[in-house]
Amino acid sequence: MQKVLITGAAGFLGSHLCDRFIKDGFHVIGMDNLITGDLKNIEHLFKHEHFEFYNHDVTKFVHVPGELDYILHFASPASPIDYLKIPIQTLKVGSLGTHNLLGLAKEKNARILIASTSEVYGDPLVHPQTEDYYGNVNTIGPRGVYDEAKRFQESITMAYHTYHGVETRIVRIFNTYGPRMRLNDGRVVPAFIGQALRGEDLTVFGEGLQTRSFCYVDDLIEGIYRLLFSDYVYPVNIGNPNEITIRDFAEEIIKLTGTSQKVIYKDLPVNDPLQRQPDISKAKEVLDWEPKINRQEGMKYTLDYFKELSTEELHKSEHRDFS
Ligand code: UDP
Repeated sequence: MQKVLITGAAGFLGSHLCDRFIKDGFHVIGMDNLITGDLKNIEHLFKHEHFEFYNHDVTKFVHVPGELDYILHFASPASPIDYLKIPIQTLKVGSLGTHNLLGLAKEKNARILIASTSEVYGDPLVHPQTEDYYGNVNTIGPRGVYDEAKRFQESITMAYHTYHGVETRIVRIFNTYGPRMRLNDGRVVPAFIGQALRGEDLTVFGEGLQTRSFCYVDDLIEGIYRLLFSDYVYPVNIGNPNEITIRDFAEEIIKLTGTSQKVIYKDLPVNDPLQRQPDISKAKEVLDWEPKINRQEGMKYTLDYFKELSTEELHKSEHRDFS
């Protein structure tokens, strides 16, 4: 039986990856320090004989006994509200954490896939973003701690590949949504859905003319899975190219939830990217992958998940305030 280590296992993407690898017959070691993750995302796996959980911070030396075939490094705060609250941990997990996991991959002769992000493109001047675009990042802006950690992560990963011959893969993840997103992480999908369910107005930042392209989590996981088992070592964008303005997206959520609330406008956060849309030609070519679930369908699944949350959970979510 093949063994896989998934860091960030109690997070949104990490927990879905654990499910996928368990389903496909792997022995899964989930690792998380629970700073932003939540055990409730993986508690259903605890009874599974091939699932183990280590409560560990990957910025400290990572020890896993025995053999290891694959590592997927998904531990990181991943929303602007989190980078603002825990900027140093964000920098450390992308840099020191990645270094530790690359060392582990080398030691175990394991293949390692690193979760990078569209944030490496910063506020992009090229649209849509192709993998060969170098990006436009403000190193000292509020997002710099995440963006630069992820850029360093890509560099050290390629260095381990070229210098030590470690088998590496790099995925650049664009905005993704679905069940298990943290309601209070400040990202736009849980923010709008939470507001609609609590009967609050939806807060659009700036004029809402900035765009994003939202990928449903199942599509993303499939893309990552294919990349891990492919031979391609350079970064690959995985995301849904269907682009929408935040203002139109707010209107969609109002319709979908049937709320009688309206849109209100707040200040645009610093360095908030104006446009974001993945060019997924590379993923189509090397992975034969493209998203299958459209926003209407994916948002319905996501709303169903949030509707199941208790009133207490729904109300403990906080607002993101950049002023
Ligand atoms: N946004 C918004 N209202 C909110 C939360 C976010 O208008 O309550 C906007 C935010 O300014 C950004 C977009 O939605 O332009 C996506 O934000 P998110 O934090 O989800 O991810 P990002 O792509 O910016 O990392």
